Order: sequence, then structure tokens, then C-alpha cells
Amino acid sequence: MQSTMMDFPLTLPHLLERAGKLFPKEEIVTRLPDKSLHRYTFGDFYQRSRRLASALQKAGLQKGDRVATLSWNTYAHLEAYFGIPAAGGVLHPLNLRLHPSDIAYIINHAQDRFLIVDDVLLKLYEAVREQVNLEKVIVVPLSGQPVPEGFMSYEDFLATGDPDFSYPALEERDAAGMCYTSGTTGKPKGVVYSHRSIALHSLASALPDALNLAGHDVLLPVVPMFHVLAWGLPFTGVMVGSKMVLPGPHLDPVSLLDLFESEQVTKTAGVPTIWLGVLQALEKEPTRWKLKPMEMVVGGSAAPEAMIRAYDRLGHTVLHAWGMTEMSPLGTVSRLKRYLRGDPALEYRYRAQQGLPTPWVEIRAVGEQGVVPWDGQSLGELQVRGPWVAASYYNLEEESDKWTPDGWFRTGDVVAIDPEGYIRIADRTKDLIKSGGEWISSIDLENALMAHPAVKEAAVIAIPDPKWDERPLAAVVLKEGASVTPEELARFLEPRFAKWWLPDAYVFLDEIPRTSTGKFLKSKLREQFRNYRQV
Ligand code: ADP
Repeated sequence: MQSTMMDFPLTLPHLLERAGKLFPKEEIVTRLPDKSLHRYTFGDFYQRSRRLASALQKAGLQKGDRVATLSWNTYAHLEAYFGIPAAGGVLHPLNLRLHPSDIAYIINHAQDRFLIVDDVLLKLYEAVREQVNLEKVIVVPLSGQPVPEGFMSYEDFLATGDPDFSYPALEERDAAGMCYTSGTTGKPKGVVYSHRSIALHSLASALPDALNLAGHDVLLPVVPMFHVLAWGLPFTGVMVGSKMVLPGPHLDPVSLLDLFESEQVTKTAGVPTIWLGVLQALEKEPTRWKLKPMEMVVGGSAAPEAMIRAYDRLGHTVLHAWGMTEMSPLGTVSRLKRYLRGDPALEYRYRAQQGLPTPWVEIRAVGEQGVVPWDGQSLGELQVRGPWVAASYYNLEEESDKWTPDGWFRTGDVVAIDPEGYIRIADRTKDLIKSGGEWISSIDLENALMAHPAVKEAAVIAIPDPKWDERPLAAVVLKEGASVTPEELARFLEPRFAKWWLPDAYVFLDEIPRTSTGKFLKSKLREQFRNYRQV
């Protein structure tokens, strides 16, 4: 039997029209490079995004053409998020923290046609210019200075757009955006999102048991708009009509805290590194900022339990989520089921794990013997499937072993799933420590070390061992003015772990090397300490 329902396409112009009609008075605030605040409304955003779509079409944009952005989180970037797909183009934010040669590789691989770039990032464009072949470069005058000779100003470009623009025919499975993995574990790989996958991802993200984003929220995505489309938050935020606060290039703790205070932010999102820095600033001057209680989404790498507890004491709530570029990115969120609430120790244990899959995301963990039981102990590779999970990489045949013959995506994360369905990530496959044939979870050790009052950050890696194959080494960064000995750290861990899990060595560093998205760069640490035993 056929349904009697409309076949209504899940395309992004719907969200843009909705925002323009229903929320025209809501605000979008951007911190500019000179630290002043740029304010305008959803009404302005709506008009300008449509003008951008029209201007792109007039400039010759064809359906499916890639338009790259090299931008901080700003109002103009938000316009690109909607204006490019509304014109039938594909939004492609570039990771501005990558090396210019990687940026050039990505632009060429994606075959980007146009580029929208912040004027304050023009130097970076100059560094890739010779290696790429972009047809048009449009410069956003964020700093208030005139746009340099030879470039098109974004404002002049918008002026060429028609305010009565009508959208091209779009299908929900058309490409709308693309992102490359940040390359933590190899060459960047491109993932292409559809209007439909973004629409469904936005709906699921807003759910109360997911990110719980509402129209009355004030949303500040710290996560850059080039990192998996800022975890979809610009789309979800515009869909629900929450006030949007965009921090521009100022991501240091004090600038963020000032903005949380002045705009009365209620919802924010970023990687643990950001929240560890903000925590230190808050603990140093606990009465300096008058903040609203915030829910802070943490993902990208594991959120240490000690950090979750510390924010609770300050009146803010850390919400732990897991995702990947290949998953748009939301996969799991750690919210507590009703009957798991009440026992603080159990609650913290769950909140430090990565959580339950959202609706339409299916999970399984697969070990050497096949699918492993949901007993909270057995480890296996996490495999996922769902309507916003990638089914292939863009133009990259050789990576097809990332998908199983029965159609699941192999995440490369090693997890245990408990009987309630909560996942706990033990490691990325490449970071696992294999000692005497058994696995040691570096994340569990790091979490425990970061609960020590003297420890700011800890990364645990494998070092080669003639007898056990590999043994753990802990690289530790101490809090300002704190001191601790390796023996004291070992004693601190002893009651929590089996003896053979305890690190063989502790090294103290000024900082842990990081990737372009703020994750521990363990490959570099492994390289650095490969010959540790011989030293
Ligand atoms: P890259 O693969 O280049 O690091 P992604 O941002 O797509 O880029 O990274 C996805 C990976 O980040 C996941 O496979 C997982 O290993 C890690 N990750 C994301 N969220 C979490 C989390 N909450 N806890 C632990 N690891 C996480």
C-alpha cells in the first residue's frame, strides 16, 4: 500500500526560509578580529544568505560546484553555510590550522572552484595560492580595512545578488557540504554530506536526549566551523532559532569567558583542551565572571571525569558526546536514563563514557571472533550505520575496507558496550597499547591521571618492549606551580588498575603536542619516546 504522505524534500532552503520568517528578530553576534562585537539579526542573515546564493549563481556556480571557505566562526561564515547550499553548491570549510601544503592538497582534491576567505587569513591563502587553481577569491572585510587590490570584496559580491532570488530545484540527496578528516591517522579524507543527511542530523541533534538545543538557548560554538561543520550546530541552531554567538578568532579562555558573560550563553561546544583551559581560568578567578549555568558539549576526544566534576562544582554541566567527520559528526551522547540517576558515583562513571547512540544511529562492536556481547567488558571495534553516516569517501577507492561487506562503517575506535547500550571508548585502534597479548586502554589511564590534583594533562602511549611487545608510558603536564614524583603518580593509580596496566615510565612535559583540532598528537609522542628504553 502506498502512503498518502507528501514527498517533501529535506533540503536546506527550508531551514533558511523558516529562520527568515519565524525568527527575524533573533540575534547573531560575532566577535571581530579587533575584539569589537558585530551584531545583526536572523532577518539580516536571511537576506544576506539569499543574496550570496544569487551572487554565486550569477558568477556561474553550477549545481554541485564546491565553494571553499577559509574562515573563523563569524556571521559571514554562517551566511556561507546557507547561501552556498541554497545556490545548489557544496560548502567546503577548510581547516585553517593545517599546513599550507595540506590545505592545497585538500583544495585540489575537492576541486574547489571558488573561495570565500576572511581578510585576516589572506596570508594563509597567499601561502597556498601558487599550488591551487581557484577561479574566484572573495574576501570578507572582517577587520574593517579595504580589501587588497586584485580581490573581490564579499560585500561588493553580495551587492551583485538579487534580493528576489528563487532557489534552484534541489533534491534531498544532492550534496550540500563537505569536510575532510583532520588527518590524525593519515592523509585527510573527504566526506560529502547531503541536504537530507544534514536535515536529519539537525533534527536528531536538537533532541532533549541529544544536545537539547532550543529556541530559548544562547548558543556559542567554540568548535571551529571547519571541524565537521562545527558539529552541525550552525544548522541545528538556525533550525530551532537560538541566539547565535560566534567567537571569531578569539578562542583564549578569557575572551571566551567574557563572551559567555556578556551574551549570557547557555549552550556551548568544544574539544576537551578548550574546556580544560577555561576551567583553569575560572578556578583562578571564580568570581570574575557572572555566568548563566551552561551546558558544555565536549567531544573530539575523551572528556576526563575530573573535569566533569570540576564544572559541576562551578554550576555548569559537561555533556559528553562522541562523533566523527564520517558521522556528520554526532554518534552518541552520554545522558542518563531515568533509572540510572541518583547514585553520584555511577552518574559520573556514565558521564565520562561516550553514551548512547542517537535515534537512527545503530552500533555494534566487532572483535576477532565477531560481534562482541554488550557486557561492558568485551572490547571490539565500533561499527556504525545510519542516515548521516558516510557510505564512502570522496574520490578515494583504496579506503573501501573502512566499510564491512554488510554495510557498516568501521570507526577505528575500540569500545566496550554495556548492557544498557552505553559505549565506552578504550582507544583508537592505532593508540591501543598491546602488552603481553592484552590490551591496555590509554584513555582509562589518562582519565585517572587527570584526576590527580597536580596533573593538568596526561597522554599515555605505547613504547616498544622486548618482553611484552608494548608497555605504557605516561606523558604528563603539571598544573602551574604544582609538583609530583613518578612514584607518587604510580601510587595514585595503584588502587584503580591491575598492576600490569600501570605505566612503566612517567615523563614530564611543558605541553602535549596537538593536532589541528586540538587532540593529543600521539603519533608524535610515540616518535619522540620510541627509544625511551635505550636512553
Ligand atoms: P580525525 O579522525 O582526523 O581525528 P575526527 O574529528 O573525525 O577527525 O575524529 C574522530 C575521532 O575522534 C573518533 O574516531 C574518536 O577516536 C575521537 N573522538 C571523538 N569524540 C570522542 C570522545 N567523546 N571520546 C573519545 N574519543 C573521541
